[in-house]
Amino acid sequence: MKYKRILLKLSGEALMGDNQYGIDAARLEQYVKEIKEVKDLGVEIAIVIGGGNIFRGVQAEDSGIDRVQGDYMGMLATVINAMALQSALEKTGLYTRLMSGIKIEEVCEPFIKRRAVRHLEKGRIVIFGAGIGNPYFTTDSTASLRAIEMEADVVLKGTRVDGVYTADPEKDPAATKFPSISFQDVYEKGLNVMDMTAFTLCQENNLPIIVFDMNKKGNLKAIVAGEEVGTLIS
Ligand code: UDP
Repeated sequence: MKYKRILLKLSGEALMGDNQYGIDAARLEQYVKEIKEVKDLGVEIAIVIGGGNIFRGVQAEDSGIDRVQGDYMGMLATVINAMALQSALEKTGLYTRLMSGIKIEEVCEPFIKRRAVRHLEKGRIVIFGAGIGNPYFTTDSTASLRAIEMEADVVLKGTRVDGVYTADPEKDPAATKFPSISFQDVYEKGLNVMDMTAFTLCQENNLPIIVFDMNKKGNLKAIVAGEEVGTLIS
């Protein structure tokens, strides 16, 4: 295995499947299958899941809701997704722990770094809910921060696009994909990989990122095995 401990970032939007809102059961099941395949290889897995399929803080102001309040609503949305993912993973016999950036003791443990590392060492899949627990941050930043804290080998950003392109491939058919690219080049070319906070955290801590298509079967396993999938940023 090329990677022994991974931090997988899944967006909330990806969980919607073809729906406009919420959680698509088939998509959830598919993700669980992919994750289980990798777990069965003995890889330690931490997961950060977004909340964009339910609520985003930036939406709040349009509805007359205070931004900070909206961000907490977004964080709670990630906990809903995390609970769904946890339940689906456990149904297949995997051991998991859900750790939250804000205290919700009835449903999850608070995030404690040492405890999270211990869970990973014991082979439990650790899902980080509620982001870092502070407004004005994103789940991408959470992914970078938790990956650094967990000393993960890599951040795997699962998206619906199969890597980093010269332009948005959904808008520009002439866009071409980078198999790999440096942090500096991403920055200089103004490519959109993650928000700058998330991106800079990885760059400053020499933590590679792989952007890949999570909806393509077998991709996650292939990456862990060392195959060239998606775009490696290092
Ligand atoms: N959020 C936050 N602090 C964090 C993580 C998330 O305030 O540390 C809020 C923010 O409002 C964000 C929402 O939670 O819009 C959902 O997360 P995100 O947009 O990153 O989800 P994704 O785009 O990955 O689905």
